[in-house]
Amino acid sequence: MSNRRIFLKNLSHIAAASAIGISLNARAQATPVANTDPQAVALGYNNDTTKVDKAKYPNHVPAQACKNCALFQGKATDANGPCPLFAGKVVSANGWCSAYSKKA
Ligand code: SF4
Repeated sequence: MSNRRIFLKNLSHIAAASAIGISLNARAQATPVANTDPQAVALGYNNDTTKVDKAKYPNHVPAQACKNCALFQGKATDANGPCPLFAGKVVSANGWCSAYSKKA
């Protein structure tokens, strides 16, 4: 393989790695949803499932959390991740809201 081809191949790997790094960095820097966010208040979102208002949500159980919700788009091991109900922000893996739907 010529030096030029090796250089171009390495260049493409660097570009791909940079794109992945930028993508991961963007997720890491996404704004966490605050419990006081108007959408959060409307959905009863709490970033700690153990602190959900039991009087208001009697069917909630602490085992329900964003990390095991069908709408959670992070990985099971992520501390937070996107949820389509909170566009442009991330929810806590240990959070919960009234739209919770158990992951199949
Ligand atoms: Fe969390 Fe699911 Fe509610 Fe999104 S819909 S905030 S992932 S419980």
